[in-house]
Amino acid sequence: DHEPRVVLSARGLGKDFGGFTAVNNVNLDVQHARIHALIGPNGAGKTTVFNLLTKFLQPTRGQITLLGTDITRTRPDKVARMGMVRSFQISAVFPHLTVLENVRVALQRPAELAVQFWRPLKTLNQLNGRAEVLLEDLGLTRWRDARAADLSYGRKRVLEIATTLALDPEVLLLDEPMAGMGQEDVRMVAEIIREVARHRAVLMVEHNLSVVADICHQVTVLQRGEILAHGDYATVSADPRVRSAYMGT
Ligand code: ADP
Repeated sequence: DHEPRVVLSARGLGKDFGGFTAVNNVNLDVQHARIHALIGPNGAGKTTVFNLLTKFLQPTRGQITLLGTDITRTRPDKVARMGMVRSFQISAVFPHLTVLENVRVALQRPAELAVQFWRPLKTLNQLNGRAEVLLEDLGLTRWRDARAADLSYGRKRVLEIATTLALDPEVLLLDEPMAGMGQEDVRMVAEIIREVARHRAVLMVEHNLSVVADICHQVTVLQRGEILAHGDYATVSADPRVRSAYMGT
């Protein structure tokens, strides 16, 4: 029974905007092959924590470690190259291209970004092969020749995730991946995220608590910039402070 491998951790993380403390004393351990949810009411600091972890914002206090390396002072492009990507960072879906073409473009993009960990794809065959595998993994094979514009909203989100995975990240950050979706798409995207997390860590901000209950192994609850509770969903949702502060019961 070995300890899960921590791939991303924050210790004493804090951010002030002028005199206002938006995030304070946040400790977080994100594990390989686990889905970690960051939840909390509006204004709790979830987006700020995401921006701190990806280094879009420089922390005022604390330390961040990615895959054993201190990234507290590392630039965001370097963090992405080291293997932590946020969904919107690189996912651009081109509506007039097909699903397959979109994935191929994403697979070629790392070369443009001079991504160092990326081994250049030597042949078109190699590129196509990898694109097909990504489509298969994300359940998109049926739609490979459909224009992205013609996909359902949920399927478009899955295509976005596919383009993100082209960078082969170890840690994937998703900001409200189910936002604005109907039940069916929510279930489909949840299943895809579960699949994606078999081989990497996922940290996601999510408002849909039944999704969090279904697929997330770890839950961290933020309130007014601080951690109110963390643990598995059952533990966190039974915590009276969480119930009163977050769920309003
Ligand atoms: P959440 O994502 O949980 O809704 P945010 O991280 O967006 O919360 O915001 C946390 C708090 O920090 C809020 O009170 C917000 O107004 C404040 N805040 C966020 N970004 C800035 C900023 N750039 N300047 C000043 N205040 C900010």
